[in-house]
Amino acid sequence: MKHLTEYRDGEKAKRLAGEIQRLVTRPWAIMEVCGGQTHSIIRNGIDQILPDKIEMIHGPGCPVCVTPLDVIDKALAIASRPDVIFCSFGDMLRVPGSEGDLFKVKAAGGDVRVVYSPLDAVKIARENPDREVVFLAIGFETTAPANAMAVKLAHDQCVDNFSALVSHVLVPPAIEAIMNSPGNRVNAFLAAGHVCSVTGFDHYRPLCDRYKVPIVITGFEPLDLLDGIRRCVAQLESGSAAVENAYPRVVSEQGNVAAQTLLDEVFETTDRNWRGIGSIPHSGWRLRDTYRNFDAESKFDVAAICTRESTLCRAGDVLKGAIKPNQCEAFGKQCTPRTPLGATMVSGEGACAAYYNYGRLVPLNAPDTNVAEQA
Ligand code: SF4
Repeated sequence: MKHLTEYRDGEKAKRLAGEIQRLVTRPWAIMEVCGGQTHSIIRNGIDQILPDKIEMIHGPGCPVCVTPLDVIDKALAIASRPDVIFCSFGDMLRVPGSEGDLFKVKAAGGDVRVVYSPLDAVKIARENPDREVVFLAIGFETTAPANAMAVKLAHDQCVDNFSALVSHVLVPPAIEAIMNSPGNRVNAFLAAGHVCSVTGFDHYRPLCDRYKVPIVITGFEPLDLLDGIRRCVAQLESGSAAVENAYPRVVSEQGNVAAQTLLDEVFETTDRNWRGIGSIPHSGWRLRDTYRNFDAESKFDVAAICTRESTLCRAGDVLKGAIKPNQCEAFGKQCTPRTPLGATMVSGEGACAAYYNYGRLVPLNAPDTNVAEQA
């Protein structure tokens, strides 16, 4: 409880907002990369107490939202097989694929199970040697170590009926893609503290230097976020661009070295498709050759999957910060949490869900240009 009150103090929040107000002299756009930070900003009304000159742009850091449609469709195809027990975290079950979601597969008789750890999926595989057990391994650098551990465990214990459908994505290449985007408006980034708790933050420095963009590593509580924004504004107003660690209670410069060693043993980088955004070079992880026997995509014949995205959904524009969720014409009409058209309305970290759940229901005019074409 101490931490909750310590980082949610209303008076301190007002003081930080006042400092930001005193610092700012011109408009700045700051992107919070992580969907967890988006939810905290909207839930706590942080965007509403900031000066008008500061615009918060919601970034692509929601793992559920950026998992590509073809991976969801491959998951649906594998989960529909009678010989498969398909394991996933619960938030993936309602993510729409081209034709339905994992709940629909489960309702039709598929053995789809919600697990709380990928290690549970390995346990299920050990307990069901006559079935194939597949785990949907998605997410950023935060979730990857546990998924790597599950694959390594299955390898070391010869649990050959376990495999992982791997679709991991990485934050730094996404920041680079955003900075290279022709429509880019981002002047500074709040980097997600939990990602940096694994990776450290040394690798953000080249980005900072190349694009002259401040990157402040930030936590998730209201005071963490306000302090991160204050530091961004201070840098922007002084014309500097550096990596700052505003989350030292969790993040160290070197990060979690044991986790990094494990990740490097199990995964190698690969180009990755991001849902709604497209392919970003070197932005993902796949299994190394040593562990390729545990790759569900190779094990099951799902390469020829055809995908079909909703024509109404503008999640790609939302993920790139080109529009706010309530600038999508389907927001709150054809698309609600009960009838989601895109993953950003489903996920616990999705920007569309944040706007819907925390009452930002008034539609805003969408920009005239479709920025989706620009990236
Ligand atoms: S409101 Fe729905 S349809 Fe619009 S971008 Fe978000 S998820 Fe897609």
